Amino acid sequence: MVIVIKKDQGHEIDMIKQKAKKLGLQVIITYGQGQNILALVGDTQKIELQQFEGMRGVEKVYRIQEPYKLASRYANRIDSIIEVEGKKIGGDHFAIIAGPCSVENEDQLMNTAIKVKEYGADFLRGGAFKPRTSPYSFQGLGLEALKLLRQAKKETGLPIITELMDLHDLEDVYEYADIIQIGARNMQNFSLLKEVGRGKKPVLLKRGMSSTIKEFLMSAEYIMSEGNERVILCERGIRTFENYLRNTLDLNVVTAIKSMSHLPIIIDPSHATGRVEMVEPASRASAAIGAHGLMIEVHNNPLEALCDGPQSLTPEEFKKLNQSVRRIHEMVREDMSC
Ligand code: PEP
Ligand code: MN
Repeated sequence: MVIVIKKDQGHEIDMIKQKAKKLGLQVIITYGQGQNILALVGDTQKIELQQFEGMRGVEKVYRIQEPYKLASRYANRIDSIIEVEGKKIGGDHFAIIAGPCSVENEDQLMNTAIKVKEYGADFLRGGAFKPRTSPYSFQGLGLEALKLLRQAKKETGLPIITELMDLHDLEDVYEYADIIQIGARNMQNFSLLKEVGRGKKPVLLKRGMSSTIKEFLMSAEYIMSEGNERVILCERGIRTFENYLRNTLDLNVVTAIKSMSHLPIIIDPSHATGRVEMVEPASRASAAIGAHGLMIEVHNNPLEALCDGPQSLTPEEFKKLNQSVRRIHEMVREDMSC
């Protein structure tokens, strides 16, 4: 159940909270721009809407049928905008995250970071702990990579996004990252989701490779139900019978998520395609369909990359992509506002 409250109703909110608690419900509050939202979580089946509708300050009471209550569009009619060090993801904003698949050494990271910043990236990505299919593949530099990411941030000013793979690394990743990435393979690692839900940093949640859109939103719900509302969804391609490319990019997820949820949704066309020549066209399509941003793998020397070279753009290829995609986003934005 969701209660929409008129703005500036501090005392009224307290009254509603007290009543909800008496009824055995948990209350989660979101303070929005024009209104505040109270999500009542628990067994609300037997509770009549009128019990809250008559209360002072209440604008509307909804019963949310979906199991993802906090992530649901009904919980917030206004798009959530996640702001990190002045950069915004969600709503009308288009954020581009770029950087290497994994941090390999100082030269590689610094060269790539400086270029992606110059060519228009808003955030720097770089894996420190890598979820590789083979235990014999490069696993990431761990803490050393996190330190290099900090150095790259100092040099470029770009906020850092990196993957948290395991609870053991939580403290280190939280110390160095600005956005915590939960990878496709961990989308349903519920203890990890709960832990980042208790954390104070935004979470970029990637769609599991065999997950439905509802399961994707339920994973977001795990994070939000622990108190962290700052979740960014990321489509990175799913497994289908088609095996020409690494994955199948499910672009319709953008339109679906925008009607089902208020959370921002970005696309990772690098993992979705696995092939460098497919990345720019898929990025343009992502902007055209209304995604809130992109995550792009860029390497200063893709041929030598220790991980995901075949899908990594050179900085110059990224420059071209960035210009093209931003033009498309501008057109889409103008189109939607008229
Ligand atoms: C990544 O972004 O480096 C990554 C491993 O992605 P995914 O979890 O989508 O495979
Ligand atoms: Mn990768």
